[in-house]
Amino acid sequence: MSSVLILADFVGEKATKATVELATAGARMGEVSALVLAPVGKGAAYAATVNQGAISKVIVIESDAFAMHGVGAVAEAFSYVITEKKADVALFVSHAFGKEVAGRVAMRLRAGIITDAVDVAADKTTTQLVFGGSTTVHSKVSTALSIITIRPNTISADFVSSVPVVENMAIEFSENSKKATIKSSQPPVKGGRPELTEANIVVSGGRGTNGDFAAVEAFADSLGAAVGASRAATDAGWYPHSHQVGQTGKTVSPQLYVACGISGAIQHRAGMQTSKLIVVVNKDAEAPLFELADFGVVGDLFAVLPTATEGVKAR
Ligand SMILES: Cc1cc2nc3c(=O)[nH]c(=O)nc-3n(C[C@H](O)[C@H](O)[C@H](O)COP(=O)(O)OP(=O)(O)OC[C@H]3O[C@@H](n4cnc5c(N)ncnc54)[C@H](O)[C@@H]3O)c2cc1C
Repeated sequence: MSSVLILADFVGEKATKATVELATAGARMGEVSALVLAPVGKGAAYAATVNQGAISKVIVIESDAFAMHGVGAVAEAFSYVITEKKADVALFVSHAFGKEVAGRVAMRLRAGIITDAVDVAADKTTTQLVFGGSTTVHSKVSTALSIITIRPNTISADFVSSVPVVENMAIEFSENSKKATIKSSQPPVKGGRPELTEANIVVSGGRGTNGDFAAVEAFADSLGAAVGASRAATDAGWYPHSHQVGQTGKTVSPQLYVACGISGAIQHRAGMQTSKLIVVVNKDAEAPLFELADFGVVGDLFAVLPTATEGVKAR
């Protein structure tokens, strides 16, 4: 049985759903501990939110170095804890920050790393979707320590509640990890909608919107959904690039994905094909995305979406 250390992922002071997904994947391989890196005085508050998923221990390090020195300090702390605890699997969320930390930990500890896994088996075999999702790769790290980053929303999170043992640790940071200092940072401007990669429902618009996302947004709001977009829509400047779904955008795997006026290019599918239920609205019955759809509506999105919005609101 492996000993697994996950880096708990937070939005503000709250552990994310992706943290529970890491715990779920980790529990398949062995006993899971979560590392919580918090500002001074905030460790207990952060740790209290790591209470879902099969996590037996929460290790807390409080330091303002994490906010001040970013990935350098985080990678050093994680490397220190995983060495002290002799864990043999390290799991990170596969966003830009998680992958940067994972890469640094791999270099420090001379360990093998696999990034962007969409699944991990009990024997540490990972699954990756490459070449825009057209090819599935199964691979395994061959060093004693396996470092794996897992894409959010690809593993079905087990929200079992847990009461982990909490252990506080401290670390003396080396000069190396303090070489970069963050002078200021600006949190992203939040709208009223859920974060794209965290949302249970995503409604996306493509070139078929012709630049008018009002119907897509209204339908999304009726469902409490996040709004996504194809690259055709983001490249045209119709919707922000931060909302692009696909190979060069974000990967989403919600319970429900509604694609409106999107043809279904392989690069778009790469970012949404693991969604649990896919609904396609397209006026062209031959649109390739219908092949992936659980439900399809052949029709003009400007007629279909307002009707659907009214229907949802009426219920
Ligand atoms: C290296 C690379 C990376 C890429 N990365 C991405 C990526 O991350 N994400 C991404 O999305 N794309 C990506 N692309 C682009 C991708 O190949 C497609 O060009 C893009 O996805 C097409 O977007 P679309 O489906 O909105 O537009 P189109 O392919 O033009 O499809 C528009 C669809 O809207 C339908 N339509 C038109 N009007 C209406 C209406 N009124 N009502 C209903 N339906 C209507 C049409 O029938 C059509 O099917 C990438 C391409 C490359 C080469």
